[in-house]
Amino acid sequence: MATGGRTMRFLMTGGAGYVGSACLRWLLKQGHEAYAFDDLSEGNAAAVPPDRLIQGSIHDRGAIEAALRDQRIDSVMHFAAVASVPDSIADPDTYWQVNLMGTKNVLDAMRACGVRTLLFSSTAATYSFDNPMPLTEASKLEPQVPYGTTKLAAERLIADYARAYDMGYTFLRYFNASGADPDGEFGEDRRSESHLIPLVLYAATGRRDEIKIFGGDWETRDGTCVRDYVHTDDLAQAHQLAAESLEPGMGRVFNVGNGQGTTVLEVVRGCEEVVGRPIPHQIVEPRPGDPGILIASPARLREELGWVPRFENIRDIVATAWEWSNRYPHGYESKHGD
Ligand code: UDP
Repeated sequence: MATGGRTMRFLMTGGAGYVGSACLRWLLKQGHEAYAFDDLSEGNAAAVPPDRLIQGSIHDRGAIEAALRDQRIDSVMHFAAVASVPDSIADPDTYWQVNLMGTKNVLDAMRACGVRTLLFSSTAATYSFDNPMPLTEASKLEPQVPYGTTKLAAERLIADYARAYDMGYTFLRYFNASGADPDGEFGEDRRSESHLIPLVLYAATGRRDEIKIFGGDWETRDGTCVRDYVHTDDLAQAHQLAAESLEPGMGRVFNVGNGQGTTVLEVVRGCEEVVGRPIPHQIVEPRPGDPGILIASPARLREELGWVPRFENIRDIVATAWEWSNRYPHGYESKHGD
């Protein structure tokens, strides 16, 4: 049941995507009402219950307003975005259009409909590469790639609207969202995959020949990049806690990560243990735009919202992703064939 017994009604832009759908399913389990608003350009219809999917684009303000009114929405979670660092470097036009102008449309629709609270999916890519680790919410902001600059610009836009129009917001700055539904029914399935854990598992099953590791000379314990992997159910819990306590007039920021750094080679080893065989890998040149180390301090999230992650080590996270990819080797497409 929803905390305090109050059932809330959420509209989740990008709610059929990897993180959005995990949050949507989680909120439904907690007794809330939630609807995905998604154009299905990246999202999967099969990731959400059919009666929870509204197909529409964040570029279509009228469609957002209709969804807000028809579903009598209390609060919005804005996941819809383009989110690949390399693509953002190659095509900033699309990134500014979707991540900034799309966010403005969502805000304008909310204003028109009197919806006054917004949870926004932000990112560790908003921080400077020069910060000491772990990153706190007070660490220096200085994004290095268009993905990060567009997300930070969207944060600033939301804060300006909130001040002027009596809205409330929470920014959740995600570190590396990972893993799959612990029941093995939902998981990571993108049109074009670039993320580490799914690619390592593709190499484990032969869907790819090998995993290319971007850089072996970083100043880390084994020379490969360090990231903070956080399970999508733990991310979902953070959304629930943040949303249930969000009021107009508030402006809050939380890092969402485990507070533990894992190297790329440790991820590969974790996958090998879970899968039970060696996974072919090769160290190649670093990827442009990658920082060497990103680790969150989740202290604020734990202390202010009482967040307690369930998945604190990489093996447990990878095990959920392996279960999903084992059951549905071609993702949602194989699921349709059930
Ligand atoms: N990575 C890698 N090979 C790949 C994909 C990713 O070595 O094919 C590394 C990447 O350099 C980063 C980590 O894995 O250090 C996580 O990358 P991912 O793209 O999953 O997420 P990001 O950290 O870019 O948000």
